Amino acid sequence: MSSKGMLIVLSGPSGVGKGTVRKAMLETSTVKFDYSVSMTTRNMRPGEQDGVDYYFRTNEQFENEIKNGGMLEYAKYVDHYYGTPLKYVQQKLDAGIDVLLEIEVNGAMQVREKMPNGVFIFLTPPDLPSLRSRITHRGTDDQKTIDKRMEQAKKEIAMMSNYDYAVVNDKIPNAVKNIEGIIRSEHLSVPRV
Ligand code: 5GP
Repeated sequence: MSSKGMLIVLSGPSGVGKGTVRKAMLETSTVKFDYSVSMTTRNMRPGEQDGVDYYFRTNEQFENEIKNGGMLEYAKYVDHYYGTPLKYVQQKLDAGIDVLLEIEVNGAMQVREKMPNGVFIFLTPPDLPSLRSRITHRGTDDQKTIDKRMEQAKKEIAMMSNYDYAVVNDKIPNAVKNIEGIIRSEHLSVPRV
């Protein structure tokens, strides 16, 4: 029997719906895991709560965490830091509890180096026009930014082969079901030590 929990890394291009799939999994999934709340320096959006959606911190606080070795991974994304506090993840895994990270691709590749036993899942859009349409409909970006995000997304999609699994986010319940299937079969096949 494995003595440790499984680290599940859900990643993929901006706008693909990682956050929506993650929230759907926390609400409806039949597989149990804890979600690692990330730290960020971006501003809180309406409806978000410190300690629930993110730990909202200043640049100085974030950089201190990095200096003190407190981050499992971090990346700068659209001029802000985002990262995973190490302590929570380590404690849960040591206690035999699965932990899910929902992070962008640069951070995922850092985790890959440090925790190669993790399960790395790439959430991908059915095609590029549907990704553009998602980003456009969010209504948070102007045309120039949307073009930039699409260029970035193409580079991110090219990283897909570095992952263990790719899941197409066509419909949220399908993506959730597929991810659950991956987690179940990984539990059956890989002893975690
Ligand atoms: P948002 O600002 O929309 O909440 O998130 C922006 C991007 O940062 C998303 O792609 C999200 O998955 C990613 N992200 C959130 N938390 C982390 C983290 O802890 N580390 C990394 N590397 N990316 C993160």
